[in-house]
Amino acid sequence: MTSFDAPHDRLGRALRDLRISVTDRCNFRCPYCMPAEIYGEKYAFLPRPELLTFEEIERLVRLFAGAGVEKLRITGGEPLLRHQLPRLVERLAAVEGIRDLTLTTNGWLLSKYAQKLADVGLQRVTVSLDSHDDAVFGAMNGRGFGTGRVFEGIEAADAVGLRPIKINSVVERGVNEESIVPLARRFKGTGHILRFIEFMDVGTLNDWNRAKVVPAREILDRVGTEFPLEPADPNYSGEVAQRWRYADGSGEIGIVASVTSPFCRECHRARLTIEGRLVTCLFAAGGVDLRGPLREGASDEALRELISGAWRRRTDRYSEERVAQTGRDGCTPHRGRIEMYQVGG
Ligand code: SAM
Ligand code: SF4
Ligand code: SF4
Repeated sequence: MTSFDAPHDRLGRALRDLRISVTDRCNFRCPYCMPAEIYGEKYAFLPRPELLTFEEIERLVRLFAGAGVEKLRITGGEPLLRHQLPRLVERLAAVEGIRDLTLTTNGWLLSKYAQKLADVGLQRVTVSLDSHDDAVFGAMNGRGFGTGRVFEGIEAADAVGLRPIKINSVVERGVNEESIVPLARRFKGTGHILRFIEFMDVGTLNDWNRAKVVPAREILDRVGTEFPLEPADPNYSGEVAQRWRYADGSGEIGIVASVTSPFCRECHRARLTIEGRLVTCLFAAGGVDLRGPLREGASDEALRELISGAWRRRTDRYSEERVAQTGRDGCTPHRGRIEMYQVGG
């Protein structure tokens, strides 16, 4: 393995996880991420030469692994839309130092790709599913698609061993809070881990307002009233989801409370955008360009210095600062934030 001093940021956090956004395209139009009014038929997504190639991603991942990254998550946009994605997975699975290789998907194409992905070394998947109800789900994916294909995708992933499968469900007030308990019922006892995510003010397009957040406490109360829960210890330090176990032993759920209980202090995560910018916070406005130097022939050493330098300068703790940034109207200023699908959720 290429190894150099594992950098720590200004708040003493080591670099451990990397999320890679492999495409800006998506077959869904979730209003909280890529609203259909903006991402219409004529929207110009990035042309192919702008995207990092698989060779470029692999080279950067080797350098990140040398800087301490052990966990990789492939995301997007919808990563299963990236042409020949299994070939990238195969390359990344072979990088020394990468111990955990996972993918986040909306599940629409998962039954087609699950076997191929498992064959080339993907370890697990996270599938996003905001409701069990076709009408609510259809509104939340912006396409009117029903849940059937997503459930098929989850089954296919389970069958080929991409488990435990995490199911991510973003909860938005007035939109899907009535899906919380039915989703819990649906996944209880299946071995899949349902994780409820507080709606976040990421990007600039989702019209976020504090009033649209269903707090973790309420989510827990709703599930706990129906199915008693008890707290479980984190699997590792810095785990973002708070774990809760069903008292009857039939599994667990997680809550990602980035708004009501921020975890910046334990944030060891960097992100690589589609066009090769290194971003050190989900709420960042810019990022460090790695693609330019890479394509101009920069040495591994020069690229390493760019990566570790950016991490060493890092002071990000946006979620902890959010309260101070929230106005009386419940909104927060955008300051030109990168969109979720560009930075990889
Ligand atoms: N397309 C894939 C998917 O939906 O799983 C991967 C990319 S998507 C941007 C990653 C995750 O971000 C999804 O689970 C999505 O629900 C979540 N997400 C998007 N916008 C969000 C927001 N405003 N607040 C919380 N989670 C959000
Ligand atoms: Fe697509 Fe995922 Fe964004 Fe929904 S959350 S629009 S599925 S990238
Ligand atoms: Fe990490 Fe930024 Fe989220 Fe805080 S707000 S947990 S620093 S990504």
